[in-house]
Amino acid sequence: MEIITNNKLHQKISMLPGTGRRVAFKTLGCRLNQYETDALATQFDQAGYQIVDFNDQADVVVVNTCTVTNKSDQKSRNLINQAARNNKGAVVVVTGCMANNHKEQLESEKKITYVVENNRKGNIRELVDAHLRGEIVHPSGIAGDVFHYSSVDKSLHTRSAIKIQDGCDNYCTFCIIPTVRGRAVSRPLPQIVEYVRQTLDNGFKELVITGVNIGRYHWKDKRFEDVVEAILEIPGDFRVRISSLEPDGFGDRFYDLFKHPKLAPHLHLCLQSGSDKVLLRMRRMYSLKQFADILERFRSIRPNFNFTTDMIVGFPGETDADFRASLEAVQRFQFSHVHTFKYSVRQGTRAERMENQVPEKLKAERSAILRELSEKNQMKIYSSFIGKTQRVLIEKIDRNGFATGYGEHYIPFRFYARQLEKNTFHNVRAVRTEVFDEKVRLFGQIVQTRSSKEFKLDRLQ
Ligand code: SF4
Repeated sequence: MEIITNNKLHQKISMLPGTGRRVAFKTLGCRLNQYETDALATQFDQAGYQIVDFNDQADVVVVNTCTVTNKSDQKSRNLINQAARNNKGAVVVVTGCMANNHKEQLESEKKITYVVENNRKGNIRELVDAHLRGEIVHPSGIAGDVFHYSSVDKSLHTRSAIKIQDGCDNYCTFCIIPTVRGRAVSRPLPQIVEYVRQTLDNGFKELVITGVNIGRYHWKDKRFEDVVEAILEIPGDFRVRISSLEPDGFGDRFYDLFKHPKLAPHLHLCLQSGSDKVLLRMRRMYSLKQFADILERFRSIRPNFNFTTDMIVGFPGETDADFRASLEAVQRFQFSHVHTFKYSVRQGTRAERMENQVPEKLKAERSAILRELSEKNQMKIYSSFIGKTQRVLIEKIDRNGFATGYGEHYIPFRFYARQLEKNTFHNVRAVRTEVFDEKVRLFGQIVQTRSSKEFKLDRLQ
């Protein structure tokens, strides 16, 4: 066995390609984009780079962009300009969905060193290392592997995403994602299980199964529910969440998996519209009736199953009656939160060419009405948890000793937690709702340890 003397250690560290280099990251968009940045940051850290804040001076800056709406394009542009302006002479790498959507244009901009498409994003560190060694490299020369990400370091976040899938074949008429993330591809199940074990070894207590259209996972004869089941079977005290899910694609076995205490009874199930006519024009793969049946089945297994959703207002051809149908659906399905998007024309999508585009002013009015309804429902649903006990994972503890974190139903909590630690689970009883930090939460009290059996029974309500 090799004896590592101090001297040897210094030699080894100084041999790391990133030694003495500072790297900064900025991410826009979805949970998948955020996860990919976290994994990249971990790779740079392991190569000796110092991770600095985006506002600090850096030798390398990586902007992981989003292009889902015009607004995300504009925000991405602002960040790229800021990165180049604040870090003269630095290596500026632009990646993410806007890099795919506007590649030629971005490549023509001198302030950007490299434009790296999504399928090569996992290899950015190798590209930067080679650049800093003075080698002439082009992103197209690095391998493309959408799963080339190491397990994330725990210092970055309390919960870790588990990327099981990428791309999408659904081609909803409003959506640019299939164009920028490519065709659906599923990660081999044994790799996923091994990745989860590494992530748990890194100390994570909560895992979020993530991708673009995860319900459509398909590898050999394995489907989405097989992935979830395989992860739930891994021993250990951890919790599993499902990130954003399309209502079509997953099979019947998925419902029963929610009897497993490790699987959090919350889903972000994207409805998009409450009008069957609009759903058809969006090319969504379900009707309102089918969506209602799906919710009912989950709620028959976990009565206060918590749902959140995405809704688009102002889709081409949306009439007042269609919009009213969306409001009725939000009221009927009792979502605890609705991410409301004003329809945004995306070049290259089928909806771009549709007639009866809705005026921006009307989109804004409808968006405001839907947000107001969502907030009212949120307060009502959060209040229904008062007196109930949730298992909260502490994410932060402020200097006054108050902790914040989420219960299994994905409802945010705040409670007094002096002496307790981040990244630990605690039984917390909800005492009241509050607005803290501009966010509606449940204020709670730690419940002195109870028998786990009693607690388990209570949690399966
Ligand atoms: S299923 Fe989702 S990612 Fe796929 S095209 Fe539709 S909205 Fe976009």
